[in-house]
Amino acid sequence: MNYRGRFAPSPTGPLHFGSLVAAVGSWLRARSQRGAWLIRMEDLDPQREVPGAADDILATLVAFGMPSDEPVVWQSRRSQAYAASFAQLGEHVFPCRCSRSDLAASNGVHRGACVATADPARAPAWRLRVDDRSVGFDDLLQGGFAQNLLRDVGDFVVRRVEGGYAYQFAVVVDDAEAGITEIVRGADLLDSTPRQIRLQQLLGLPTPRYLHLPLVLDRTGAKLSKSEGAPPVDRHDPMPALRAALAFLGLPNAARVAATSPDALLAHAVPHFDIDALRKKLDGFPAFDCNA
Ligand code: GLU
Repeated sequence: MNYRGRFAPSPTGPLHFGSLVAAVGSWLRARSQRGAWLIRMEDLDPQREVPGAADDILATLVAFGMPSDEPVVWQSRRSQAYAASFAQLGEHVFPCRCSRSDLAASNGVHRGACVATADPARAPAWRLRVDDRSVGFDDLLQGGFAQNLLRDVGDFVVRRVEGGYAYQFAVVVDDAEAGITEIVRGADLLDSTPRQIRLQQLLGLPTPRYLHLPLVLDRTGAKLSKSEGAPPVDRHDPMPALRAALAFLGLPNAARVAATSPDALLAHAVPHFDIDALRKKLDGFPAFDCNA
Protein backbone atom coordinates (compact mmCIF):
# COMPACT_ATOMS: atom_id res chain seq x y z
CA MET A 1 0.00 0.00 0.00
CA ASN A 2 1.20 3.50 -0.75
CA TYR A 3 2.31 5.34 2.35
CA ARG A 4 0.15 8.29 3.37
CA GLY A 5 1.07 10.32 6.41
CA ARG A 6 -0.20 13.55 7.91
CA PHE A 7 0.35 16.39 10.33
CA ALA A 8 -2.73 17.65 12.16
CA PRO A 9 -2.13 20.88 14.09
CA SER A 10 -4.77 22.58 16.22
CA PRO A 11 -4.90 26.35 15.63
CA THR A 12 -4.56 27.22 19.30
CA GLY A 13 -1.44 29.32 18.65
CA PRO A 14 1.53 29.62 16.31
CA LEU A 15 3.77 26.62 15.66
CA HIS A 16 6.28 26.13 18.49
CA PHE A 17 9.32 23.88 18.60
CA GLY A 18 7.39 20.86 19.94
CA SER A 19 4.89 20.94 17.10
CA LEU A 20 7.68 21.60 14.58
CA VAL A 21 9.31 18.34 15.71
CA ALA A 22 6.03 16.48 15.11
CA ALA A 23 5.71 18.08 11.66
CA VAL A 24 9.31 17.32 10.66
CA GLY A 25 9.13 13.78 12.08
CA SER A 26 5.96 12.93 10.17
CA TRP A 27 7.27 14.60 7.00
CA LEU A 28 10.61 12.73 7.14
CA ARG A 29 8.92 9.42 7.76
CA ALA A 30 6.54 9.98 4.81
CA ARG A 31 9.35 10.96 2.49
CA SER A 32 11.61 8.14 3.62
CA GLN A 33 8.76 5.77 2.67
CA ARG A 34 8.28 7.64 -0.65
CA GLY A 35 4.84 8.58 0.57
CA ALA A 36 2.46 11.51 0.57
CA TRP A 37 2.29 13.98 3.44
CA LEU A 38 -0.94 15.83 4.15
CA ILE A 39 -1.93 18.64 6.48
CA ARG A 40 -5.24 18.69 8.34
CA MET A 41 -6.24 21.74 10.35
CA GLU A 42 -7.96 20.61 13.54
CA ASP A 43 -10.18 23.64 14.02
CA LEU A 44 -13.03 21.83 15.75
CA ASP A 45 -13.20 23.85 18.91
CA PRO A 46 -13.83 27.56 18.28
CA GLN A 47 -13.35 28.35 21.98
CA ARG A 48 -9.72 27.19 21.95
CA GLU A 49 -8.90 28.73 18.60
CA VAL A 50 -6.66 31.81 18.31
CA PRO A 51 -7.67 34.09 15.41
CA GLY A 52 -5.09 33.95 12.62
CA ALA A 53 -3.27 30.91 14.07
CA ALA A 54 -4.38 28.48 11.33
CA ASP A 55 -3.06 30.67 8.51
CA ASP A 56 0.07 31.39 10.49
CA ILE A 57 0.76 27.67 11.01
CA LEU A 58 0.26 26.94 7.30
CA ALA A 59 2.57 29.79 6.26
CA THR A 60 5.16 28.56 8.76
CA LEU A 61 5.05 25.01 7.36
CA VAL A 62 5.59 26.40 3.86
CA ALA A 63 8.52 28.50 5.07
CA PHE A 64 10.03 25.36 6.63
CA GLY A 65 9.77 23.51 3.31
CA MET A 66 6.74 21.39 4.19
CA PRO A 67 3.64 22.36 2.20
CA SER A 68 0.80 19.81 2.08
CA ASP A 69 0.85 17.49 -0.94
CA GLU A 70 -2.94 17.80 -1.22
CA PRO A 71 -5.42 20.55 -0.33
CA VAL A 72 -5.46 21.18 3.42
CA VAL A 73 -8.45 19.53 5.14
CA TRP A 74 -10.31 21.79 7.59
CA GLN A 75 -12.22 19.94 10.28
CA SER A 76 -14.63 22.85 10.67
CA ARG A 77 -15.95 22.08 7.19
CA ARG A 78 -16.57 18.38 7.74
CA SER A 79 -19.61 18.19 9.97
CA GLN A 80 -21.58 16.19 7.39
CA ALA A 81 -18.99 13.43 7.30
CA TYR A 82 -18.90 13.37 11.10
CA ALA A 83 -22.70 13.20 11.32
CA ALA A 84 -22.78 10.20 8.95
CA SER A 85 -20.15 8.29 10.96
CA PHE A 86 -21.79 9.28 14.24
CA ALA A 87 -25.08 7.75 13.01
CA GLN A 88 -23.18 4.52 12.34
CA LEU A 89 -22.26 4.22 16.02
CA GLY A 90 -25.94 3.50 16.78
CA GLU A 91 -26.41 1.83 20.14
CA HIS A 92 -22.77 2.25 21.10
CA VAL A 93 -23.38 5.90 22.01
CA PHE A 94 -25.71 7.36 24.62
CA PRO A 95 -26.74 10.88 25.63
CA CYS A 96 -25.15 12.07 28.86
CA ARG A 97 -25.82 15.15 30.99
CA CYS A 98 -23.31 14.36 33.71
CA SER A 99 -21.26 17.39 34.74
CA ARG A 100 -17.72 17.43 36.06
CA SER A 101 -19.01 17.67 39.60
CA ASP A 102 -21.41 14.76 39.02
CA LEU A 103 -18.38 12.66 38.10
CA ALA A 104 -16.07 13.97 40.81
CA ALA A 105 -16.58 10.86 42.95
CA SER A 106 -15.12 8.69 40.16
CA ASN A 107 -12.28 11.13 39.35
CA GLY A 108 -14.12 12.38 36.27
CA VAL A 109 -14.40 8.88 34.77
CA HIS A 110 -17.81 7.85 33.44
CA ARG A 111 -18.53 4.13 33.73
CA GLY A 112 -21.90 2.79 32.72
CA ALA A 113 -24.84 4.55 34.33
CA CYS A 114 -25.23 8.35 34.25
CA VAL A 115 -25.35 10.14 37.58
CA ALA A 116 -26.48 13.49 36.15
CA THR A 117 -28.17 15.98 38.40
CA ALA A 118 -28.85 18.43 35.52
CA ASP A 119 -32.22 19.32 34.07
CA PRO A 120 -33.16 16.40 31.73
CA ALA A 121 -34.29 18.95 29.12
CA ARG A 122 -30.69 20.24 28.81
CA ALA A 123 -28.80 19.34 25.61
CA PRO A 124 -26.68 16.24 26.21
CA ALA A 125 -23.16 15.27 25.21
CA TRP A 126 -22.87 11.84 23.58
CA ARG A 127 -20.50 9.25 24.97
CA LEU A 128 -19.25 6.00 23.58
CA ARG A 129 -20.00 3.08 25.88
CA VAL A 130 -16.74 1.19 26.46
CA ASP A 131 -16.32 -2.32 27.70
CA ASP A 132 -14.03 -4.20 30.00
CA ARG A 133 -11.35 -5.31 27.59
CA SER A 134 -7.88 -4.37 26.60
CA VAL A 135 -7.29 -2.40 23.40
CA GLY A 136 -3.65 -2.30 22.39
CA PHE A 137 -1.26 -1.73 19.53
CA ASP A 138 2.39 -1.98 18.70
CA ASP A 139 3.90 1.47 18.34
CA LEU A 140 6.81 1.62 15.90
CA LEU A 141 8.86 3.60 18.37
CA GLN A 142 7.39 3.10 21.84
CA GLY A 143 6.61 -0.62 21.58
CA GLY A 144 3.45 -2.28 22.88
CA PHE A 145 0.84 -0.09 24.54
CA ALA A 146 -2.59 -1.16 25.78
CA GLN A 147 -5.40 0.19 27.89
CA ASN A 148 -8.51 -1.29 29.39
CA LEU A 149 -10.93 1.39 28.25
CA LEU A 150 -13.45 0.77 31.03
CA ARG A 151 -10.87 0.94 33.79
CA ASP A 152 -8.42 3.49 32.38
CA VAL A 153 -10.63 5.85 30.37
CA GLY A 154 -14.37 5.25 30.87
CA ASP A 155 -17.19 6.07 28.48
CA PHE A 156 -15.78 8.96 26.49
CA VAL A 157 -17.35 11.93 24.72
CA VAL A 158 -17.63 11.72 20.94
CA ARG A 159 -20.06 14.61 20.50
CA ARG A 160 -20.02 17.65 22.72
CA VAL A 161 -22.92 19.46 24.38
CA GLU A 162 -22.75 22.29 21.84
CA GLY A 163 -23.16 19.74 19.03
CA GLY A 164 -19.54 19.77 17.86
CA TYR A 165 -17.66 16.49 17.53
CA ALA A 166 -14.82 15.55 19.85
CA TYR A 167 -11.20 15.26 18.75
CA GLN A 168 -11.08 11.48 19.42
CA PHE A 169 -13.92 10.88 17.00
CA ALA A 170 -13.15 13.41 14.25
CA VAL A 171 -9.55 12.28 13.95
CA VAL A 172 -10.68 8.70 13.25
CA VAL A 173 -13.17 9.73 10.58
CA ASP A 174 -10.66 12.07 8.93
CA ASP A 175 -7.65 9.75 8.95
CA ALA A 176 -9.74 6.98 7.38
CA GLU A 177 -11.20 9.21 4.71
CA ALA A 178 -7.75 10.56 3.80
CA GLY A 179 -6.45 6.98 3.54
CA ILE A 180 -3.74 7.61 6.14
CA THR A 181 -1.60 4.48 6.51
CA GLU A 182 0.63 5.63 9.38
CA ILE A 183 0.17 8.28 12.05
CA VAL A 184 3.29 10.00 13.35
CA ARG A 185 2.64 12.41 16.22
CA GLY A 186 3.75 13.35 19.72
CA ALA A 187 3.76 10.84 22.57
CA ASP A 188 1.21 12.94 24.44
CA LEU A 189 -1.36 11.23 22.19
CA LEU A 190 -0.19 7.69 22.96
CA ASP A 191 -2.96 7.26 25.50
CA SER A 192 -5.61 8.55 23.06
CA THR A 193 -4.77 5.82 20.57
CA PRO A 194 -6.70 2.90 22.15
CA ARG A 195 -9.87 5.06 22.09
CA GLN A 196 -9.26 5.83 18.44
CA ILE A 197 -8.65 2.16 17.62
CA ARG A 198 -11.89 1.22 19.37
CA LEU A 199 -13.76 3.75 17.22
CA GLN A 200 -12.08 2.38 14.09
CA GLN A 201 -13.27 -1.11 15.04
CA LEU A 202 -16.85 0.05 15.59
CA LEU A 203 -16.91 2.01 12.33
CA GLY A 204 -15.35 -0.83 10.34
CA LEU A 205 -12.27 1.26 9.47
CA PRO A 206 -8.70 0.04 9.09
CA THR A 207 -6.24 0.76 11.91
CA PRO A 208 -3.17 2.62 10.63
CA ARG A 209 0.32 2.04 12.03
CA TYR A 210 1.38 4.42 14.80
CA LEU A 211 4.65 6.09 15.67
CA HIS A 212 4.61 8.38 18.69
CA LEU A 213 7.58 10.71 18.79
CA PRO A 214 9.29 11.66 22.05
CA LEU A 215 7.95 14.90 23.48
CA VAL A 216 9.99 18.05 23.66
CA LEU A 217 10.09 19.07 27.29
CA ASP A 218 10.89 22.49 28.68
CA ARG A 219 13.47 23.16 31.38
CA THR A 220 11.03 22.22 34.12
CA GLY A 221 10.32 18.85 32.47
CA ALA A 222 6.86 19.93 31.24
CA LYS A 223 5.67 19.44 27.66
CA LEU A 224 6.18 22.49 25.47
CA SER A 225 2.69 23.61 24.73
CA LYS A 226 0.99 26.39 22.89
CA SER A 227 -1.40 27.05 25.74
CA GLU A 228 1.52 27.61 28.11
CA GLY A 229 2.86 30.24 25.74
CA ALA A 230 5.84 28.32 24.30
CA PRO A 231 7.70 30.70 21.96
CA PRO A 232 6.79 30.34 18.26
CA VAL A 233 9.40 29.21 15.76
CA ASP A 234 10.56 32.03 13.48
CA ARG A 235 9.27 31.49 9.98
CA HIS A 236 11.43 34.34 8.68
CA ASP A 237 14.56 32.51 9.84
CA PRO A 238 13.68 28.79 9.64
CA MET A 239 17.14 27.20 9.48
CA PRO A 240 18.15 27.27 13.18
CA ALA A 241 14.89 25.72 14.39
CA LEU A 242 14.89 23.20 11.54
CA ARG A 243 18.44 22.11 12.40
CA ALA A 244 17.46 21.79 16.06
CA ALA A 245 14.37 19.73 15.14
CA LEU A 246 16.50 17.37 13.03
CA ALA A 247 19.01 16.99 15.86
CA PHE A 248 16.15 16.19 18.24
CA LEU A 249 14.97 13.52 15.80
CA GLY A 250 18.35 11.79 15.91
CA LEU A 251 19.98 13.57 12.95
CA PRO A 252 22.75 15.73 14.42
CA ASN A 253 24.87 15.33 11.29
CA ALA A 254 22.07 16.25 8.93
CA ALA A 255 21.55 19.26 11.13
CA ARG A 256 25.15 20.36 10.54
CA VAL A 257 25.24 20.08 6.73
CA ALA A 258 25.97 23.24 4.78
CA ALA A 259 22.48 23.55 3.31
CA THR A 260 21.21 27.06 2.76
CA SER A 261 17.48 26.38 2.42
CA PRO A 262 14.95 24.27 4.34
CA ASP A 263 14.25 22.27 1.16
CA ALA A 264 17.92 21.34 0.78
CA LEU A 265 18.33 20.50 4.46
CA LEU A 266 15.20 18.33 4.51
CA ALA A 267 16.19 16.56 1.30
CA HIS A 268 19.55 15.75 2.83
CA ALA A 269 17.90 14.42 6.00
CA VAL A 270 15.45 12.01 4.32
CA PRO A 271 17.85 9.10 3.67
CA HIS A 272 19.37 9.48 7.16
CA PHE A 273 16.11 9.32 9.11
CA ASP A 274 16.28 6.10 11.05
CA ILE A 275 13.65 5.05 13.55
CA ASP A 276 15.85 2.28 14.96
CA ALA A 277 18.45 4.88 15.89
CA LEU A 278 15.73 7.09 17.34
CA ARG A 279 14.41 4.15 19.36
CA LYS A 280 17.85 3.65 20.89
CA LYS A 281 18.04 7.32 21.69
CA LEU A 282 14.66 7.04 23.42
CA ASP A 283 16.35 5.47 26.42
CA GLY A 284 17.82 8.87 27.10
CA PHE A 285 14.40 10.54 27.18
CA PRO A 286 12.41 10.84 30.36
CA ALA A 287 9.82 8.08 30.64
CA PHE A 288 6.44 9.01 29.30
CA ASP A 289 3.85 8.73 32.00
CA CYS A 290 0.45 8.13 30.43
CA ASN A 291 -1.32 8.96 33.67
CA ALA A 292 0.38 12.31 34.11
N1 GLU B 1 -4.49 18.26 16.75
C1 GLU B 1 -3.73 17.49 17.67
C2 GLU B 1 -2.73 18.37 18.38
O1 GLU B 1 -2.38 19.43 17.86
C3 GLU B 1 -2.98 16.37 17.01
C4 GLU B 1 -3.87 15.31 16.56
C5 GLU B 1 -3.19 14.09 15.97
O2 GLU B 1 -2.07 14.17 15.45
O3 GLU B 1 -3.85 13.05 16.00
O4 GLU B 1 -2.28 18.01 19.43
